Amino acid sequence: SRAVPAADLLPDALDALHATFGFTAFRGVQEHVVSRVLSGQSTLAVMPTGAGKSLTYQLPAVMLEGTCVVVSPLIALMHDQLRSATANGIRAATLTSADTDREVTIDRFREGELDLLYVAPERASQPHFRELLSKARVSLFAIDEAHCVSEWGHDFRPDYRLLRPLLDAFPEVPRLALTATADHHTRADILAQLGIAENGLIVAGFDRPNIRYAIRPRENAARQLKALLEENSGPGIIYAPTRARVEQLAETLAATGRRVLPYHAGLSPEVRARNQAAFVASEDMVMVATVAFGMGIDKPDVRFVAHAGIPKSIEGYYQETGRAGRDGDPSIAVMFWGADDFARARIRLSEVEERRQQSERQRLDALAGLVETAQCRRAVLLRHFGEEPAPTCDNCDNCLEPPGVADVTELARKLLSAVYRTGQSYGLGHLEKVLAGIADDRVLQRGHDQLSVFGIMTEDEKPLLKPLSRALQARGSLLPTEHGGLALGGDAREILKGEASVPIVLPPKQERKRRGGGSS
Ligand code: ADP
Ligand code: ZN
Repeated sequence: SRAVPAADLLPDALDALHATFGFTAFRGVQEHVVSRVLSGQSTLAVMPTGAGKSLTYQLPAVMLEGTCVVVSPLIALMHDQLRSATANGIRAATLTSADTDREVTIDRFREGELDLLYVAPERASQPHFRELLSKARVSLFAIDEAHCVSEWGHDFRPDYRLLRPLLDAFPEVPRLALTATADHHTRADILAQLGIAENGLIVAGFDRPNIRYAIRPRENAARQLKALLEENSGPGIIYAPTRARVEQLAETLAATGRRVLPYHAGLSPEVRARNQAAFVASEDMVMVATVAFGMGIDKPDVRFVAHAGIPKSIEGYYQETGRAGRDGDPSIAVMFWGADDFARARIRLSEVEERRQQSERQRLDALAGLVETAQCRRAVLLRHFGEEPAPTCDNCDNCLEPPGVADVTELARKLLSAVYRTGQSYGLGHLEKVLAGIADDRVLQRGHDQLSVFGIMTEDEKPLLKPLSRALQARGSLLPTEHGGLALGGDAREILKGEASVPIVLPPKQERKRRGGGSS
């Protein structure tokens, strides 16, 4: 239900918008959020990156009497915000352990000379901060990156939980929680944790229609990325899972003659700053980076974002690919994934705290669903964020070149029973030999030529074994063992008993081969 805006405030808000930021209009849900805040209603705004979240508290901060207290999780982020607020003539300051002028800031705050005061959650939750607030006038609490308050969120920070007593100590001060990424669970949790009414939820559209999504199996990452670079001349970001992989890919790709630089947390701050500045200024450079790169970078003309391995979650995928095409021009997001990515992620899963395992597993399953789907990628993505999108978009790989889907339940049962009968410790290479009936030394030594599964795979099934194994690993029916073997997991037993089916998406190349083969 849309709140009735305080009617006399909106013209003032437009004036202030123009006077402070030089903008002539609100974008999307900004107006709705600002009008709620101005009329004192607590709100959770879920707005994708680039949608203009900061304005929704900075504008009220300028308009309302008193100071808007902004809770933000990272000092670097705070300083970015501080810079841009100050550049717009907003009276702002940060209160962190890194600041040497804390006394000055505290005085300004008490004297009512600040529109914005940025603090970290660990400071905000301290009793003497509460005391300080009671001696000043607070207009608004803005809680940035609010998903940090939820264990369902992808970036839980316990300090965020300690904010509630502070907020409750000032019941007349409205709360504005902001986040770019929150699925249904996380949204409900943020509302509950921060004491915001359910009808205070405002969700902006997540669609980025100018981004073309594609998700492909990884065959040879370097070769696939080189091809991508040949087809795309504009600036691009390639995300790789580890520092070593970043270095390696950057070196390989630089050999193509394209300007390519690495970025990861292992580089010195000077090198990182230099590489980032070069990227922001460039019109054709490629940055190979870990996820450490991208937060707070203002480069609207990034033409492609590639993932050389799977991201952490759909939220991460959306955030990282969202760095492409902020200028609205056609851009590309392509992911090259491998079964080993999911294998590693599922091993890590067993190492996280038990109470978080369920949500982490759901996150991984959702990502596997996106990777393995034959449906429109955009539709899957937007449904994940609670929207009801059109079933097709004409701007993703699956819409542009619908993949073939094969029901390979029979082959899946053969593979899973070969895994079981060989003792759940061999890799796909060995299993393939057993299923194909190839009696090499190792097969003979272990007596695997004597098993009922020896040689039961048909000629037609052979090319499907690898995509099948990939799909089973993505959905968790096959799990990696410590020594590089495969073991049963997830719904493997249901598949074996014929209670679950296994459709797989055929990669376009395989699909062409199959169609070609079928028609001859
Ligand atoms: P977010 O924090 O949601 O990622 P930002 O607050 O950084 O987004 O805003 C993204 C960009 O959009 C900034 O460059 C900002 O100046 C611009 N912007 C925000 N609101 C408007 C508006 N109403 N009109 C024009 N540009 C805007
Ligand atoms: Zn689509």
